[in-house]
Amino acid sequence: MQETPSQLLKTIKLYIPDLWSANAHSSSFQNTRSGYLRNRISMLAAVWGLLVFIWIPFDLFFLPESQSVPIVIARLLLGTSLLLLAKVNYRLTKLKHAQICMGLLVTATNLFYLYAIWILEFPSVYSGYFYGYTLLPIIHVAMLTILPVTLKESLGLLAITAFVQLFTDFQATYFLTPENIADYWLQTILAMMVIWSQLSKLYMLMRLYRQATLDPLTGIYNRRMLLQLANKCMLHSEYTKQPFSVMLFDIDKFKRINDTWGHSAGDQVLKEFTQFIQSQSKGDELFGRFGGEEFILFLPKTHFTQAEQLADKLLASIRQLQLDIGVDDTKIRITTSIGISSFTDGDTLSSLLERADNALYECKDAGRDCRRYHPAGYKYSSRAECQLVG
Ligand code: GH3
Ligand code: MG
Ligand code: MG
Repeated sequence: MQETPSQLLKTIKLYIPDLWSANAHSSSFQNTRSGYLRNRISMLAAVWGLLVFIWIPFDLFFLPESQSVPIVIARLLLGTSLLLLAKVNYRLTKLKHAQICMGLLVTATNLFYLYAIWILEFPSVYSGYFYGYTLLPIIHVAMLTILPVTLKESLGLLAITAFVQLFTDFQATYFLTPENIADYWLQTILAMMVIWSQLSKLYMLMRLYRQATLDPLTGIYNRRMLLQLANKCMLHSEYTKQPFSVMLFDIDKFKRINDTWGHSAGDQVLKEFTQFIQSQSKGDELFGRFGGEEFILFLPKTHFTQAEQLADKLLASIRQLQLDIGVDDTKIRITTSIGISSFTDGDTLSSLLERADNALYECKDAGRDCRRYHPAGYKYSSRAECQLVG
């Protein structure tokens, strides 16, 4: 489907902060990107490290001994450092580490270039075997295409290469000669193509990631992503021996809203409800749509008594909400039922959710607009009877 100009503008506005630094994207995307970057940095550093060694016979064969020996030593140092970087980087998982390793990779290759050019007495010749040394900045720019980096990261990495090259060109008294200007022109075009290629990769990655992990109506995590993140969070809480609670929300008599005001009014209620819970939840809490008019809030570091207090507060606030349903100026009120459970030794995510679901069922039986907590081992008989009858 063709995008209208206003839709396009909206898309660009949404993606500009992402393309600049990707910080506005979800933390799970940051983790995925850092894993992706990590693999590529290690691969690039390992391949580059090996290629650096392969050039040694060339140094020894073509350069006079006074130049070949220091360059071979520098080459051995660079190759070893790159292989080491490939190994160390592979063990690091944080995005910050991947960014530091990228910086080190580019700085190390540039330092080698600077040293080699200095030993070769700053040649301004772009012919014969000198190509193997003088073309390195162009290769440094081209190598960035392998990494799906943001605009900010690209510019930072390109700046290292640009700075080193300006310095060497200046030393070679080659700076701003017609040949030098032609080189810069070519390199600028190459850099722009590299940035374009990286940003389009990043854009595609973010778009697909959003589609795969977020609920299209409310923009919060969809069920699959929510459960995946919650499982990690629950295991972390278990490992660190911290409490972990779950709140399962179900909007009361939601079908009536659809039947009375139409499906789009129902959609509007779901969006406003989402915004309200988001405005009330803290940074480390996980909130997502479980399906239909059911939502889940996972609460790390929260004991069940704290979860109960929070549920009471939310129930009271939800009762007061006046939701705009987009039909004339009509505002409606809703109520919610909240089923609560808390992690106990031996729990899995599904046993935890099952208890929250049973607790929610009890709320519905008790007349709705309330909260219930089901501890481990608690059997709610009415539900079993309902299930048998149903
Ligand atoms: P209860 O108090 O027992 O929870 O009653 P309820 O009417 O909320 O529960 P029920 O499960 O019978 O109805 C849920 C309704 O939610 C049925 C379905 O049409 C509606 N629904 C599910 N997803 C969406 C959606 O994305 N948009 C809208 N507008 N309605 C939805
Ligand atoms: Mg329901
Ligand atoms: Mg409902």
